[in-house]
Amino acid sequence: MITGKNYIGNLLSSTSKVTFKTFNPQTNLENEIDYSEASNIEIEKAVELATAAFKIFRSMPGVKKSKFLNEIANEIEALGDNMIQVYCSESGLSKERALNERGRTIFQLRSFAKLVEEGSWVEASIDKSDPNRQPIPKVDIRKMLVPLGPVVVFGASNFPLAYSTAGGDTAAALAAGCPVIVKSHPMHTGTGELVASAIIKAAATTGMPNGVFSNLNSNGIEVGVSLVNHPQVKAVGFTGSIAGGRALYDIASKRPEPIPVFAEMGSVNPVVMLPKAVKQKKNEWAKTYAKSITLGSGQFCTNPGLLLGIKGVDLSHFIQVLSEEIVKIEPTCMLHPAIKGAFENGKAKIQDQQGIRTTGSFDTAIASNYGRQAIVTVEGAHFLANKTLHQEVFGPFSMVVQCENSQQLEEIIEHLEGQLTGTVLGEKGELKKYEKIVSALQNRVGRIIFNGVPTGVEVCASMVHGGPYPASTDSRFTAVGINSIKRWVRPFSFQSWPDSSLPDALKNENPLRISRYVDGKQTKEKN
Ligand code: NAP
Repeated sequence: MITGKNYIGNLLSSTSKVTFKTFNPQTNLENEIDYSEASNIEIEKAVELATAAFKIFRSMPGVKKSKFLNEIANEIEALGDNMIQVYCSESGLSKERALNERGRTIFQLRSFAKLVEEGSWVEASIDKSDPNRQPIPKVDIRKMLVPLGPVVVFGASNFPLAYSTAGGDTAAALAAGCPVIVKSHPMHTGTGELVASAIIKAAATTGMPNGVFSNLNSNGIEVGVSLVNHPQVKAVGFTGSIAGGRALYDIASKRPEPIPVFAEMGSVNPVVMLPKAVKQKKNEWAKTYAKSITLGSGQFCTNPGLLLGIKGVDLSHFIQVLSEEIVKIEPTCMLHPAIKGAFENGKAKIQDQQGIRTTGSFDTAIASNYGRQAIVTVEGAHFLANKTLHQEVFGPFSMVVQCENSQQLEEIIEHLEGQLTGTVLGEKGELKKYEKIVSALQNRVGRIIFNGVPTGVEVCASMVHGGPYPASTDSRFTAVGINSIKRWVRPFSFQSWPDSSLPDALKNENPLRISRYVDGKQTKEKN
């Protein structure tokens, strides 16, 4: 019997006899390998190593961390086709999707490598002393961002690479100088173990302290709960359900020393269709949205699950075309029978609610774990009165709300929970005419889109992937792009500290040649 193991730092370990297997949703069969559930001894050891590693890693020069991150990217590339095959066998996703996601993962790692090599991300700020200031002399104060400590990362089921073992959370935390312990996602443990092996190799090649990274397997919530409760863990990154993210957030805040949990969770991503979009482009938007709703079997956190428009013949026509178009699209495999089951239950729960009418539904026979897309519609008053209709159905499903007028549309937006994205379809001039609606939407979301679709999250410095609760647990941060590093750091000040003992980022000579805020002016000059 082959047994998948945990990485406790650079040591492969399986002290527990409890094992589990991953599942291939395409063949509807379990995969062969048994993975060893992480034991309490392994959890303790991983945290102990991470704590020791932090003492060295937290002040490691950016150039060295950059080499580490670039080497992780190289090692992931070197895993080649084997990893792609394991990815597909554990997720039901296509080879093309696997290759795209690998590209995104590597791009993220290299972006953080570039960021920490350049170094200005630490936001160095210097206020020099003024002994002659009256009536009180001014002291020398210098500030920069410093890492929090060991971080626990929970990988996402829907992104086995880009938001899992070496995904955005891990890359950002390592870049910040925080050791990472991954609680591997049980649906793609094999992919996780391969990626973990790449990180461990890269750590050895680039001289990182042992314990800078560990990977723990688990098919139940206990390992994650123990990690979040561990006193030496200082922050948590999570992508998944509201129930999971909220449970971890509550655990973290009840600890004797509460810690931050950056959870990216549910969202229905409202799309507001202004009258001219519905009147002039209803056919185009219906076709575009049929594709966006079914993309990746709807298993994206930015999937458009709620379309809002003002009642009338044009909106009815849009609903008809959308419903016809969506059933023309071939269903695709979902990630796991549990996700497919949750999708079917969530869809049925909505369809059972008062005032809901199903206008499009793929009802032809399909393979076991494929998701049947559906479109439903409801009147604005029913939607406002029933919070169940506001919940995310994770999968290829969307609801069109037919509002009485623009006042009701605005009221509906104001009653929505926080969202990752909001989209406005219309003509430029309508943004002014419906500014109250646009402003209400802006107040509920992390990113607003004009005449497009919310699916597709660009990895770049200006991206905000987050939003008011429950889209995320902290709307002040993004989970995507280089600025996501800010989740894993805290500001720290040195007062009257001798120049020779300051970190390079704050020294008078500015040896790193970084951009700093010196006495109220942004500059790369020395003091
Ligand atoms: P999940 O159930 O939230 O689980 C994600 C991770 O968190 C898993 O590793 C899970 O561990 C752990 N976890 C969950 N609840 C926990 C708890 N109470 N205490 C400690 N750890 C906990 O998400 P999932 O399995 O990836 O997918 C299930 C549902 O999540 C989907 O149907 C969908 O609704 C939603 N989802 C949303 C997004 C999004 O971006 N919005 C992305 C993916 C999934 P174990 O699995 O080992 O129990």
